[in-house]
Parts: sequence; C-alpha cells; structure tokens
Amino acid sequence: MAEFDHETLRASIGTRAGSVSRNDIAPALVAQAIAGGEGKFTADGALSVTTGAFTGRSPKDKFIVRDALTDRRVWWDNSGAMMPEAFERLLADAVASYGGLSVFRQDLIAGADPRHQYAVTVMTPSAWHALFIRNLLIRPNEGVELSPAARAATIVHVPRFKADPARHGSRGETVIALDMSRNIVVIAGTLYAGEIKKSVFSLFNFHAPEAGVLPMHCSANVGANGDTALFFGLSGTGKTTLSNDPARPLIGDDEHGWGEDGVFNLEGGCYAKTVKLSAEAEPEIFAATRRFGTVLENVVLDGNGKPSFDDVSLTENTRAAYPLTVLPRVAEGGAGGVPKTVVFLTADAFGVLPPIARLTPEQAVYHFLSGYTAKVAGTERGVTEPQATFSACFGAPFMPLHPTIYGELLEGKLRESGAAAWLINTGWTGGGYGVGKRIDIASTRRLLTAALDGSLEGAAMRTDELFGFRVPLQVPGVEAKLLTPRATWADAAAYDRQALKLADLFRRNFEKFGDGADAEPGPKLALAAE
Ligand code: ATP
Ligand code: MN
Repeated sequence: MAEFDHETLRASIGTRAGSVSRNDIAPALVAQAIAGGEGKFTADGALSVTTGAFTGRSPKDKFIVRDALTDRRVWWDNSGAMMPEAFERLLADAVASYGGLSVFRQDLIAGADPRHQYAVTVMTPSAWHALFIRNLLIRPNEGVELSPAARAATIVHVPRFKADPARHGSRGETVIALDMSRNIVVIAGTLYAGEIKKSVFSLFNFHAPEAGVLPMHCSANVGANGDTALFFGLSGTGKTTLSNDPARPLIGDDEHGWGEDGVFNLEGGCYAKTVKLSAEAEPEIFAATRRFGTVLENVVLDGNGKPSFDDVSLTENTRAAYPLTVLPRVAEGGAGGVPKTVVFLTADAFGVLPPIARLTPEQAVYHFLSGYTAKVAGTERGVTEPQATFSACFGAPFMPLHPTIYGELLEGKLRESGAAAWLINTGWTGGGYGVGKRIDIASTRRLLTAALDGSLEGAAMRTDELFGFRVPLQVPGVEAKLLTPRATWADAAAYDRQALKLADLFRRNFEKFGDGADAEPGPKLALAAE
C-alpha cells in the first residue's frame, strides 16, 4: 500500500478550521485555555479543568479498524472491530466538524529511541488538550531528535463531536477508533485526556513487536550504577508513585519499549494520580501540581483555589499532567540500559499476596500474562468484597495483539538479560479490604529498595505453598510479620480460605490461554482448587 499522506489529512482539517495555531508552547496554550473559558488557574498557577461525564477511559468504546493488516493479528476477543467503510465516514465527519473552530496543532514525538519513533500530530479544538499532550509526549529539541525514519501518526481529536452508531459503527456517541494501517486515530465524545496518550500507546503496542521491541505498560527508573528497573502494573498499583525516587532518575512513569539496547520512554511527561496526594509521601508529584503549565484534571479546588486532593466528588481518578523536565532528576535522553530488575506491581485487595516475592522467569511470565490486581468494590458502606481484575500484560485495553506475543518477547528478554523479577503487593495487609488496611508507601519503598540494591540476593526465603514464589523472611527496616500475610490476619483460617479463593481465580483466568502459553505458576497453584 502506498504511504498515506498525513499532511493532506492535517491540511484538510486546517482548511475547514477558523484558524490553526501550530506548536504553541505551554504559556500560550494556558493563556488560550483561560481566555476560552476551558479552565481556571489554581492558587499556585496550575491549570484546572474538568471533563464532565467521562472521568476515565472508556474501553468499550475503543475500536480497531479490521483490515488486511489487522484481521489476523489483532486479538479480537479483547478489541472491538470497526469496518473500514465506517471508519472512513467517521473520519470524514470528524474532519468536517472542525468547521470554523480554532484548532490547535501539536507536532510531537513518541519514542525516545530514534529507531522506534512516531511523529505524532494532534489536532484538537481544545487548548487544554493541546497542552496536555504537549506535556505528555516528547517535545522536539528537548534532548531527543526526531528521526527522518519516524512513522507519521495523526490524532483527530474531536471531543464534542458525537458519533452515530448506525453511521460510524460505534457503540454510542463516544468512540476511540484506531486505524493501524495508516496510524490515524479519531477520538470523539469524551473529554478525558488520558484517551489521547493511551491511543498513541495502542499504535505503538500494535507495531512494536514486529521490530522485536517489547512494548510495556510500566514505569522505569535508573540507579546510581546505571541499573535500570521496570515497574509493571495496572492502574492505581503504584507505577507513578514508586518510580518517583530521589535516588533513581526517572525514565518514565507509564509507557516504554524494551528494544535492542535497553529501555526507552515512549513519552516525555507524567500523568500522576492525585487522589489523597501528600507532600510527605510523594514530594516530587506534589511539587509538580503547584506549577504553571501543569494540567490538573477533575481535581476539586477549595474557595481559595487550592486543590483539595482528598475530595473525590468528581472522580477518584483525579490527575496531574506535567512534563518530565519539571522533575528534579530524570534519565538523560529518556532511555536506560537493559533492565537489571523487573517488578510486577499489584494492589491485592484480598490481602493474600505477600508484600514482596521473588519470581523465577517462568513465574514472571505467568504473572505478566495474568496481569492481576484487585479493585475495591466501591465506597458504599457494607460492601467489602474486592473484585479481582486480570488484565493480560498489565494493560489489556491497549495491547492489541494476542498476549502470548508480548509474553514470548518478555520471556526472551528476561532470559537474555538475566533480570531479577519480583512481585510487589501494594494492596491490603492484615485482612482484605474492609478489615485490613493498605500497606503504607514507606514500607513498600523499603521493600523495593532492598530488591533494587541487591541486598536480598542470597537472603533466606520461604517458598509459598500456593503460588510457588519465594518470599524473603527478613527485609531491613520492615517488620518481619508483614512478610507473611497469614500472620497479619487475626483469623488464620479465614486467610487460608481467601488464599485458596484467589488461587482459584488465577487458575481459572489462565485457562483462557489454553495450552499455548508455557508459563508455570508454581507447582501447587494448578492443584489449589481441585
Ligand atoms: P496509572 O496506570 O493509572 O497511571 P499507576 O500505576 O501509575 O496508575 P499510581 O498513580 O502510582 O498508579 O497510583 C498509586 C496510588 O496508590 C497513589 O494514589 C498512591 O498514593 C496510592 N498508594 C497507597 N499505598 C501505596 C503503596 N503502598 N504503594 C504505592 N502506592 C500506594
Ligand atoms: Mn501512572
């Protein structure tokens, strides 16, 4: 197929628009967002915006165009399919909807490695969304050069355009449609900004394996000796929180590739959760929320314009978007070497998993494919039953290919690198949700430090009977009891029942991979529920 001409598409939007302002820098975008009534200043000078009905991603409204390229490669069990004709109509109607609007065009880079780069242009009628994506992606001339070989991508962002299911093949008025063959994305009917960054990630995740690059929903940082660490995990498990470490420059907090010589960031900014944010537990993120140019999304302000991070009346998913450059220490060039440590983060609301466990490479692949975390059932009183979530590769909504493709890439890279793999539970201890409490960030950081600095190599460990992984008996600065969840529960029999239940959920979830996946959970897990 002939190379698609993205400039023609972008120009056709420009022709219809009332005006196009191209590559405005942050102060200009803030000024236009304020002037246009899109948001307001916080007391500290950040830009505060709200997103109305959608305060999170809308995975069921996400579709991939089913064509010759994607038909046999996408894991359709996990992605909605859109017919090419429907996409053509959606694109044409979305382009027409820019008529007379002030349009903001941002030409940015995704991929700090010039061999695996996208030249991403976002067209949006919203100044604050332009600022958001400028904060999040890599701004040209900030230490990463745009390669002439970069693949072009265009995001047609029309948040107020309403899709028509009959005409566009959408589920409703909201749609996120990805054309992988031409790298065009249409985002309509939602103001939630995270859809923009995650659609770039989805394009990358579709294409990257072809070049032998493992795309990863993880954060990454690098230690004093150049040792790179990865932190995989679903939303809310601690990728952003734990990768912000004053002793370890940050590579990135969410989306990376593992290529021929190591890890590179896809992005150039962070999108941090701000719920219950405190200056003590998360000083770098807290400071970032107080600067001009940061976007605060759905954070409630008090009468003085101060953020109320404990106020979840709009959503629990409140966010701050800021460029990496505002952090005190970041890794140069958005890249790090081959990982020495790989951490899988989970927030186990069942209170069963230990706060840290060492995984064999087989167990690492098993946990990667399982992608376990748990959500607390809500804030209604009396609801104490957690909900297990299994999301393959810790990011199923944005991993278009079959999980075993990513699993095999990970397995190969773990073996080649000899990286140590750990499972870290940032969830509940002393009982499940409603009985126990979430482990404190300081304890998790101490466990993590021990894993990263090598002090657990050769440490005495027990083998977990159910899950088969190895659990250290002692970690400096951490109460030994914490390492054995059963000992933290008042009722040991209740722990055993809950543990069997969780093991059974793991086992049943893994059945979807059939015999194709040669990952072993550990000897007893398969027997747990028989
Ligand atoms: P996303 O993919 O949505 O960006 P994430 O994995 O980056 O999610 P974080 O933004 O790090 O998630 O969110 C972790 C949340 O859990 C934060 O609000 C943090 O304050 C809270 N938290 C509570 N206890 C812990 C702990 N022990 N370790 C890590 N985070 C914790
Ligand atoms: Mn994050």
